[in-house]
Amino acid sequence: MLIPLSHGSQVPVPCKNLTVTQMMATCSATRKIVLQLQGFWGETQSKTDEEYSYMQYAILGGGALGLGAAYRLTKAGHSLMLFEQETTAGGLAAGFRIGDTWLEKYYHHLFRTDTTVIKLIQELGLGDRLEWLHPRTVCLIDGKFQQLDSPLTLLKFSPLRIDERLRVAAVVAVLKLTGSGLYEGKTAEPWLRQWMGRRPYSIVFEPLFVAKFGAMHDQIALPWFWARFHDRTTYLGYLRGGFQQLYERLVERISQAGGKVLLGTRVESAKPLADGRWEVQTGQGAWTVDRVISTLPTRLTCRLIPALPGDYRARYDWGQAYGAQCLILSLDRQLTDSYWINPCDAGYPFTSLVEHTNFRPTSEYGGRHLIYLGNYRPMDDPLFKMKKEDILQEFLPYLKRINPAFDPEWIQESWLFQAPFAQPIVTTEYREHIPLLRTPLKGLWVANMFQVYPHDRGQNYSFELADRLVRELEN
Ligand SMILES: Cc1cc2nc3c(=O)[nH]c(=O)nc-3n(C[C@H](O)[C@H](O)[C@H](O)COP(=O)(O)OP(=O)(O)OC[C@H]3O[C@@H](n4cnc5c(N)ncnc54)[C@H](O)[C@@H]3O)c2cc1C
Repeated sequence: MLIPLSHGSQVPVPCKNLTVTQMMATCSATRKIVLQLQGFWGETQSKTDEEYSYMQYAILGGGALGLGAAYRLTKAGHSLMLFEQETTAGGLAAGFRIGDTWLEKYYHHLFRTDTTVIKLIQELGLGDRLEWLHPRTVCLIDGKFQQLDSPLTLLKFSPLRIDERLRVAAVVAVLKLTGSGLYEGKTAEPWLRQWMGRRPYSIVFEPLFVAKFGAMHDQIALPWFWARFHDRTTYLGYLRGGFQQLYERLVERISQAGGKVLLGTRVESAKPLADGRWEVQTGQGAWTVDRVISTLPTRLTCRLIPALPGDYRARYDWGQAYGAQCLILSLDRQLTDSYWINPCDAGYPFTSLVEHTNFRPTSEYGGRHLIYLGNYRPMDDPLFKMKKEDILQEFLPYLKRINPAFDPEWIQESWLFQAPFAQPIVTTEYREHIPLLRTPLKGLWVANMFQVYPHDRGQNYSFELADRLVRELEN
């Protein structure tokens, strides 16, 4: 519903939440409008109509991409509303409160090559909290931890013969020094077997592909694998106090610049109107804007916007994405001496074990030792329906395999998080199915982490894409 103002312009407010006070306020001779937006703004907002003019943009999704775009757009003087279904901003990189600090729901760190997010962190005044460390990454092979996180550890990697180590090192060097274009159209598995050798592939890389991609492990495109090596560095960055601070700071800056970030507000649909504008229907009401930017996965965007034409859907509502699950345990003591453990031995029920407090000091978390047990699975996998307690029971014997001294009594607290659309499955045809930022519908733009190809999804690439989107919108 649109409330006409005394000077003739119109203010969009959610239809369902219009109160008597608002109706009366629209008639006020003082040209003051009182908008009581229940639930999501939490308090009565008093604004003059000049302050609260119509919104140019609606941004769907409050992860790195949505918030990054909202920050740049409000900085450039645009008005906008951002709708995020969760009550905390940050999407897949969001944290939760643990003691008086934040911990990510899914393990997160940065690489030195993540220059866009590093610059943003500095721009937002958080640069002094960004710390770089070289924590230990190991592969678990025949029950032993084998460090593999630098050229030197590769040369010492005893599960492989010296000639095999040199061959793997040569392939890694080539991947580091070349561009992704050389690898287009190729599948990772046969290429790696051919160039690294069958044995190195089957001992180290095949188990990792199987653990991460399950039945799709032999269909992953080589450019995706190229990015894993090309973009990664041995030093890892972390924002002391949690990455959530970055997202909280973005919300703060967007709000200060006049943007509205509506948390806990799920978008149900969006449709173009006859006058060229858009109506966004949310759980809290409907809003009218000039332009819509969807940062939701393309598949979800297609579901929420029925006006998208059939040929667009046929091409871009395509392919698979896996969901992510992390069971986080707080232990009263250290489990291992490594940050990241890739179980290459068969049978482990988790893709990786990340002992966060071998990267960050336990003192940041009130002495807790924090462990992530992570999994990527198809979104209909029974794992996503299991109770936390049942998952824990399934995982416990494997923690004992990793550290025979482990006792379930060490577990003090636990948390379970899971998210759909967490890992795009990048096959050789994937590239043909990445939509442009501009859609065939006037006023609708699509920018999401499924478009960051060939790089693996990451906060950096979402912020980079947000910057590119805003440059396109401004031109
Ligand atoms: C297990 C795991 C580990 C990772 N590790 C790292 C790492 O170490 N370093 C790194 O940089 N990155 C890492 N990432 C990737 C990183 O989290 C993502 O690339 C980035 O957060 C994506 O941001 P985004 O805004 O593009 O998407 P998202 O974060 O998915 O944001 C989309 C938002 O849309 C919201 N939404 C969905 N539907 C609706 C709706 N109907 N209405 C309103 N809102 C809706 C969602 O709640 C979400 O907040 C990891 C991801 C996972 C899953």
